[in-house]
Amino acid sequence: MTENHHAPKRLIVVSNRLPFNVKIEDGTLQYAGSAGGVATGLASYLAGLHQRANALREYVWVGWPGATIDAAFEEQLKREAREQYNSHPVFLTDEEMDQFYFGFCNSTIWPLFHYFPSYTAYQEKQWQQYRHVNEVFCKGVLEVLRPDDLVWVHDYHLMLLPRLLKQAMPSLQVGFFLHIPFPSFEIFRLLPGSWRRDILDGLLGADLIGFHTFDYTQHFLQCVLRILGLEHNMGQILTPDRVVKVETFPMGIDYEKFSTAANSPEVKQEAQKLRQPLGDVKIILSVDRLDYTKGILNRLAAFEILLDTHAEYRGKVVLVMNVVPSRIGVYEYDKMKRQIEELVGKINGRFSSIEWTPVIYLYRNTPFETLVAHYAISDVALVTPLRDGMNLVAKEYVASRTEGTGVLILSEMAGAVKELGEAITINPNNREEISDAMKQALEIPLDEQKSRIRTMQLRLRRYNVNRWAQDFTHELMQTEQVQNKFCAKLMNFAAKEELIDAYRSRSRRILLLDYDGTLTPLVSHPAAARPTQELLQLITSLATVPGNSVVLISGRDKETLQAWFGALPVSLAAEHGTWIRESGEEWKMPKQLTSDWKAQIRAILEIYADRLPGAMIEEKDFSLAWHYRTADPEQGLMLARELTDHLVTFTANIDLQVMRGHKVIEVRGAGVNKGTAAQYLLAKDQFDFILSLGDDWTDEDMFGAMPEWAYTIRVGMAGTHARFNLRTPRDVLRLLETIAKVSAEIESPEKTLSETR
Ligand code: UDP
Repeated sequence: MTENHHAPKRLIVVSNRLPFNVKIEDGTLQYAGSAGGVATGLASYLAGLHQRANALREYVWVGWPGATIDAAFEEQLKREAREQYNSHPVFLTDEEMDQFYFGFCNSTIWPLFHYFPSYTAYQEKQWQQYRHVNEVFCKGVLEVLRPDDLVWVHDYHLMLLPRLLKQAMPSLQVGFFLHIPFPSFEIFRLLPGSWRRDILDGLLGADLIGFHTFDYTQHFLQCVLRILGLEHNMGQILTPDRVVKVETFPMGIDYEKFSTAANSPEVKQEAQKLRQPLGDVKIILSVDRLDYTKGILNRLAAFEILLDTHAEYRGKVVLVMNVVPSRIGVYEYDKMKRQIEELVGKINGRFSSIEWTPVIYLYRNTPFETLVAHYAISDVALVTPLRDGMNLVAKEYVASRTEGTGVLILSEMAGAVKELGEAITINPNNREEISDAMKQALEIPLDEQKSRIRTMQLRLRRYNVNRWAQDFTHELMQTEQVQNKFCAKLMNFAAKEELIDAYRSRSRRILLLDYDGTLTPLVSHPAAARPTQELLQLITSLATVPGNSVVLISGRDKETLQAWFGALPVSLAAEHGTWIRESGEEWKMPKQLTSDWKAQIRAILEIYADRLPGAMIEEKDFSLAWHYRTADPEQGLMLARELTDHLVTFTANIDLQVMRGHKVIEVRGAGVNKGTAAQYLLAKDQFDFILSLGDDWTDEDMFGAMPEWAYTIRVGMAGTHARFNLRTPRDVLRLLETIAKVSAEIESPEKTLSETR
């Protein structure tokens, strides 16, 4: 389906900050544009929204307006924000902002996600405030939300918001984009257990989750697997109720804005004004927010090494260092500012002459035109973050080099490096390497500069901020179709009614029920899945209805089934049908199997169990099972694949079958499975109602053996031969409870009638 087939939708953008800052001065509200790459980039995409042939035409931006607002001004601000900025403010108190923004966001998530665990604070109070503020944002969104809107949540401040929105409105399409790195599991796991689970779960409330780079995407998927136990298939995570897509979208810049500005007479004039007093020197530029992630000190130290080791550059090179004030008042930032200023002082003290100052240090916000003029006059841009989600400055420099000259030195720890392979890349921790890179950059011939810059320009021009935002929102709209396809077999109300009607009107009914994962959720230890009293009662009440046969058809051994269900008036099929005990009879084997193969196969399984901590071998009468439910999920998956391969090859000429279930590989005599067991039991009577419920691969054999009209249901949202899906064992129990209730009505209609009166 193309975009144009979608009915126009409204986009709700949610970010911590609105695209403006408000202040109350002299009793009036004063507005100023808010700085920062994300807000600026998004703003330029949104500004052009109404002109594009896009399914999205209108937008509302929800966020914090940049200051604590006196209640008396709230209504006025809401009105003006709506009329002038298409925005809806979320109001927060100083205390909330302090614990949330300076607290959890910037003292926990920011340092940890940028691989600074030693700077990371873990304070319960701040976490609670983070949860609370996410709820406040949720309320803010709901104030403006219409059912058809598309919601796009931005960044690490609001990682719990997707789930909150989804809970408030399950049909809402929600996207999330993270603008900072998503760290590897080893770093992410440093968060306390409940926090890390809540954060992942919060994010999984979204239908589409985007990251800047493939690495961040992989890290996230790995954390979801290891912490929540949810696997993915090509970036699609099957949660119990939905598919969540996880994808990489490297954020671009408003390319034309920079290239046009660089060519404008104003900027050219300003560039000349800046260049002239510096004389005949080469200019190395750096621009960053004051932040410990940016590697500013290493950069200065590297420049000092350059001047130390290459005296020929003294008087010939200037480092213009723009540092943008940020997070003022936070200890690490204030300390770093002092260190930077000391080092600048030291370098300038050591090397300056009357005519030449090696480091020009500018600590301020630079207006846009001046910034572009800085890009335009600089021979080299030195971008050396220790960690950076993307780094837009690197891209802006390239876009502003309209003559095609210039050299970019870029840290391999910046997300942008993946798209800017023609830059000189450096390890930001290695000062000598940065210094060498500066030397190399200063010497690169013009034609090579041009070929590198042009190649990068082509890429940045194509995948600009509009493409990035369009790709994301387009993909988000597509998720509706993915969900629809995914839910196509989901048993709806009408199908349930039909099933109940059929059940009511027939008299020879059979219910074939798998146990683990169907009647009870899967757990780490098989023994922990013992049935509850309620479940036993439910099964009994179904089995005692005249005309009903109930079969528990399981992969478990007959001893366990006997112990758990032996006293119930039901039939049991153990070991996937190797053993069958019809109600009131003894266990028997429908097909004679041997177990003389076991020793050989066991030896193989043991090799793999020894290599995988947490794996274990279960021996049943005629089968061997290799379980890895408690093992490391990734290593488990890998070894399971290897083992399957090994076993399939080994058993090629033997009458054995190798079967993969949920976190288990089972080897058993061929010709027996849940399908053959079900057929054996179905042949016992002329059943006119069949309900067959299962949750995994082994149950597909059972579904396949059923007549077409049977009610076959697979639990969990996987592809299946069954006619229907139900989401969870809870849904199964609800269905069975309804059936039990209906049975009671069939048995004694008067009684039920009088009870309801
Ligand atoms: N920038 C700014 N004011 C300045 C200097 C830079 O707004 O005085 C902008 C710059 O143009 C860039 C953004 O700030 O778009 C910085 O984005 P980046 O991804 O490089 O780093 P972040 O600050 O987001 O970590």
